[in-house]
Amino acid sequence: MQATVLYGPRDIRFEERPEPAILEPTDAIISLPVTCICGSDLWPYRGADKVDEPTPMGHEYVGVVEQVGNAVQTIEPGQFVVGSFFASDNTCEICRAGYQTHCVQRQPGAATGGQSQLVRIPLADGTLVATPEPPPADLLPSLLAASDVLGTGWFAAVAAAVGPGKTVAVVGDGAVGLLGVLAARQLGANRVIAMSRHEPRQRLAREFGATDIVTERGDDGVARIKELTNGLGAHSVIEAVGTQESMMQAIRATRAGGHVGYVGVAHDVQLPGEELFFSGVHLHGGPAPVRQYLPQLIDLIWRRQIDPGKVFDLTLPLDQAAEGYKAMDERRAIKVLLRP
Ligand SMILES: [Zn+2]
Repeated sequence: MQATVLYGPRDIRFEERPEPAILEPTDAIISLPVTCICGSDLWPYRGADKVDEPTPMGHEYVGVVEQVGNAVQTIEPGQFVVGSFFASDNTCEICRAGYQTHCVQRQPGAATGGQSQLVRIPLADGTLVATPEPPPADLLPSLLAASDVLGTGWFAAVAAAVGPGKTVAVVGDGAVGLLGVLAARQLGANRVIAMSRHEPRQRLAREFGATDIVTERGDDGVARIKELTNGLGAHSVIEAVGTQESMMQAIRATRAGGHVGYVGVAHDVQLPGEELFFSGVHLHGGPAPVRQYLPQLIDLIWRRQIDPGKVFDLTLPLDQAAEGYKAMDERRAIKVLLRP
């Protein structure tokens, strides 16, 4: 089969790879009708994460079950399934508490790389959620978004304690931040302030329910959020970037007693202890337990209550994945859908 492999900074190749096979009796193999590039794939692409050997890329996936190991009980060939970027047993104490990304058996979900034609999924019974029936083609982008960016934006909103009557600020206008806006509205926030200086992203933020746009960033952005909230700061702030500046912007834009939900993969973030001590804000985040939210998110998509697939603003054949990375790196595209 053919798949996308990262060799080093900005060196993405599309090449022949061995087809994945069942290695453990709890594995499944699925075929991928669509796949995509994640903002977090840009970290290794840009050289911010070191790549020691050619690495198959892609961790977001939906698809048709082709084959299962002989210990798999609930997932069957022919089903259409959605899973998350970490495989989990969904039975251990941590999973049952809703933290499947910290499962005691945690391992990469798309073990052999999701930007390909076929992928091996470990712990299939715990990891995969089947749709009620094979989905119509127009729901594929939204179901694929549920696999990571929607589930991550949703967790960020939950971690930021979003709810009715709250004012929410969102730092980061990538797919996760934009879907954090959508999640905040679904969870009942009456005011959602999207922080973005990029016109197409501002427009999408408004489509997803943002009520205000703030174009300033850093300390100026914090000052704007304070101005919009009677000098207090937002109740809930979603951090969806992962840099020192974005994290401090999130913490400083939050009122005392408020909550920051941080889901941008942290890169060289150093939190000042004294400032945190006196801020009085709650911090919660990390890799999102997308698996917890999949049944609910699939249901919302199935009933066409939400359309998170709108974050895909460029579609390319899988063999042009390199162009997709380039477009996202240069911020010409929010998120790229790839068709194998
Ligand atoms: Zn577990």
